[in-house]
Amino acid sequence: MTSQHPPTPARDEAGAADPRDVVADAPVAGGEAPTTPTSGDAAAPTEPHGTGPHSAPQRSGSAIRSAEVLVSSPDRNFVTLRVTTEDGVVGLGDATLNGRELSVVSYLRDHVVPLLIGRDAHRIEDTWQFLYRSAYWRRGPVTMAAIAAVDVALWDIKARYAGMPLYQLLGGASRTGIMAYGHASGRDLPELFDSIRHHQELGFRSIRVQTAVPGIDKVYGIAAQHTSTGSRYDYEPAQRIPLPAEEDWDTRAYLRHLPRVFEAVRHEFGPELPLLHDGHHRMTPIQAARLGKDLEPYDLFWLEDCTPAENQDALRLVRQHTTTPLAIGEVFNTVWDYQTLVREQLVDYVRSAVTHTGGITALRRILDFAAQYQIKSGIHGPTDISPVGMAAALHLDLAIHNFGIQEYMPHGRLTDEVFRQSFTFTEGFLHPGDAPGLGVVYDDAVADRFPYQPAYLPFNRLKDGTVHDW
Ligand SMILES: [Mg+2]
Repeated sequence: MTSQHPPTPARDEAGAADPRDVVADAPVAGGEAPTTPTSGDAAAPTEPHGTGPHSAPQRSGSAIRSAEVLVSSPDRNFVTLRVTTEDGVVGLGDATLNGRELSVVSYLRDHVVPLLIGRDAHRIEDTWQFLYRSAYWRRGPVTMAAIAAVDVALWDIKARYAGMPLYQLLGGASRTGIMAYGHASGRDLPELFDSIRHHQELGFRSIRVQTAVPGIDKVYGIAAQHTSTGSRYDYEPAQRIPLPAEEDWDTRAYLRHLPRVFEAVRHEFGPELPLLHDGHHRMTPIQAARLGKDLEPYDLFWLEDCTPAENQDALRLVRQHTTTPLAIGEVFNTVWDYQTLVREQLVDYVRSAVTHTGGITALRRILDFAAQYQIKSGIHGPTDISPVGMAAALHLDLAIHNFGIQEYMPHGRLTDEVFRQSFTFTEGFLHPGDAPGLGVVYDDAVADRFPYQPAYLPFNRLKDGTVHDW
């Protein structure tokens, strides 16, 4: 499904160039940038977006002419916002909220897009504050994914006007490459070892390790498991089925098994390989404390999401018991979710995604706050972060000082056809490339071949039938 709102202005009738061509033909860094916006030559905005003197619709070339909410499902569902200025400069933003995609489509199309028409695309900070504060109902994943999409699209536009890759506008590169970690997994040790070796052959120098647990039928993150539809679980737990798949869970079995797995991995691969693990919010604080202690001999890079994320105080108990580094935050959506965690130094890595936490503007602030406490970035990068969201993460990764590591799950072939990208992955290090803006082009013709399909993440039940955190 490709939806557009409002209808595209009559640019085709006027013979104007398709703004998507402007993206495709955008100059390389240092080349010719779009000219300074001119006033008076753009069509008047069709709708007002505010009533005060500071909210008057703009009539310059950088005024927003259209904002389209694009939905496609090449390998999975993606929601993309495309903002076009009167000059025809185009910016993209990712608004994908895994398993709840259409809620953000509605939030954007029905409530945000009418506010954007006529606004000056260069006013990124003002637009962010306007969308956050004028809604009154703040925070939450739907709201913040929608604001993120607008914010990233406007950064993309600003960098295209400048003729620079976005990271240059964020302060320039602080490093030459972005260390990435890949996802290895296995149903047993031989399969896990093969998966780790495969990721090393792909170039990864840091590896997340997830493993099946004896007695549990399906466990999050195990690629070779089969889903209820018979397809491979393979990096994509959201399944295109009418109801969520039910999985099972047993925390005690997991706590008994996991240290033995890491002992075997360290024995096989030696002490130097950075290893990560994701607990996926399934433990109580005291269970997480025990796991952190039990894993200390294996020198993890981090233990991620060990407890449910809502309770920041839980991490205080975990911290009192273990020196295993802790990472959390992929389901957070504002700086307030980190307030206690950062101020009391209860975590070591911030896991938020650009897409789910209000965009580059907001995540930069969270990371600057974290930097004062020697807490580093570990930006969320699963396949449900679209190539647009990933590109935004890579530009931020390159620019900030307190970079830690970047999660990287390569997208499928069809996704790469819809989103043409300019990033590179070389010997374990990502780089966003030097194309102007984010460096991503959305191909409508390919996207239109893959309409939205309902999909759900699975959920967990314990052996007695109790619903458990997935
Ligand atoms: Mg995670």
